[in-house]
Amino acid sequence: MKKPIIAGNWKMNNTKAQTKELLTSIVPLVKDAKCEVVVCVPFTSIETARKAIRGSNIKLGAENVHWAPKGAFTGEISADMLKELKVEYVIVGHSERRQYFNETDETVNLRAKAALENGLKPIICVGETLEEREAGKTAEVVIRQTKGAYAGIQKKDVKRTVIAYEPVWAIGTGKTATAKDADDTIAIIRKTVKKLYGKNVSENVRIQYGGSMNPKNATELMSMPNIDGGLIGGASLKAEDFSKVVNY
Ligand code: PEP
Repeated sequence: MKKPIIAGNWKMNNTKAQTKELLTSIVPLVKDAKCEVVVCVPFTSIETARKAIRGSNIKLGAENVHWAPKGAFTGEISADMLKELKVEYVIVGHSERRQYFNETDETVNLRAKAALENGLKPIICVGETLEEREAGKTAEVVIRQTKGAYAGIQKKDVKRTVIAYEPVWAIGTGKTATAKDADDTIAIIRKTVKKLYGKNVSENVRIQYGGSMNPKNATELMSMPNIDGGLIGGASLKAEDFSKVVNY
């Protein structure tokens, strides 16, 4: 049985002091969660977060990783560096990276591979923009992004990956895909994984929904057959909201 996975994506929020305060509140509230719980925090908060969640059921994640092992990449962080900080998960290809930092399917693929090669578990984000959705291109986009992200990734490594389906128009907007729409698109992503790696792998890879998921809609979204978790932005910044989503 695959375990659902709910991950917070803090984005560029929380100083070290705020990190300690927030996680100290979250730890007792999620201790009985049935799903895997992850917090993906800014690089500067990783060490503080690691200490704050020590001994709890919360796993540590980062928000990005570079593909090169080291070198002249000012401002970037390598998988090796994250590994040393005991990071387990790392988000790659978030739509904000695609939108503001020229992330492409190719760089998402390179980052995912670097994560896997260094024992990290990538949370690979895919999702269509509003324009693409309105042009009827949702399936085409998520199929292209999924195939691109997994290019050259071996079958044995897929179980260490997580996919987050995040319709870009639903991120941080308060607009959520209906549970049915989210489930239908996730089914398309799963079918793509099936074509690449076969039925068994596709049934076992965990695919999250992300996009204004909150305490009000989490139960319905998590009840859908294809949705194995959530990637939570805004609601992960409040202990009570995040814990309610996690305890859906
Ligand atoms: C996200 O950042 O991945 C996200 C889903 O944000 P929000 O929950 O705020 O829409």
